[in-house]
Amino acid sequence: MSFAASVLTLYPEMFPGALGLSLAGRALEAGTWSLEAIQIRDFASDRHRTVDDTPAGGGAGMVMRADVLAKAIDHTSPPDDLRPRLLMSPRGRPLTQARVRELAAGPGAVIVCGRFEGVDQRVIDARGLEEISIGDFILSGGEPAALVLLDAVVRLLPGVMGNAVSGEEESFENGLLEHPHYTRPQEFEGREIPEVLISGNHKKIAAWRRAQSEALTRARRPDLFGKSMTKG
Ligand code: SAH
Repeated sequence: MSFAASVLTLYPEMFPGALGLSLAGRALEAGTWSLEAIQIRDFASDRHRTVDDTPAGGGAGMVMRADVLAKAIDHTSPPDDLRPRLLMSPRGRPLTQARVRELAAGPGAVIVCGRFEGVDQRVIDARGLEEISIGDFILSGGEPAALVLLDAVVRLLPGVMGNAVSGEEESFENGLLEHPHYTRPQEFEGREIPEVLISGNHKKIAAWRRAQSEALTRARRPDLFGKSMTKG
């Protein structure tokens, strides 16, 4: 069963974009996942194909209309669709590797990309959209956020990553940031690869990497470090 992604957007030309290349692109071609980009504007009913209007209560910018978006969602994702319906939104719950894993294990996702000031709250409530943020900053639209989310999900799909082990040792998978990496040449601008890594002593190497991970996490992300300790 392949992962089915449907993206609702005013800019379907942005898809698959970066996801048409490299690992994700090959997996798309192989049918490991599928992607349809739906033009929200096609569901507008007036002859100007209007999708937005001025905010109730006044203020700057425009708001995406609930009725047009609801039509697009219902067309793409009928009530018996088992896929989660997501809305990319800076107000959403921050995306985590744990949520990415859950999504990758499921049937797919319907992803709504906001534009303007955002979308009318009533469609979020009426269609039970799960708001997901990719970080504490403001993008001009949800499309790059959807690409980010899908990139993270697709690489976890069975058969997508060549070396499955590397997925499990990465940052966040064990509540720690990853240790630094090195490769040839042995010396670069006077800097050597740490001695231990060329020692051939796998126990020592594992211990060194673990210590590096912990020091890095403590320094850069003390919030994660606390978590990894309680998880054991
Ligand atoms: N006025 C809104 C920001 C709108 S940005 C606010 O202050 O909260 C326009 C659209 O870009 C949003 O509807 C959302 O779909 C997308 N977007 C912006 N930043 C995002 C982020 N950090 N994560 C996910 N989506 C984001």
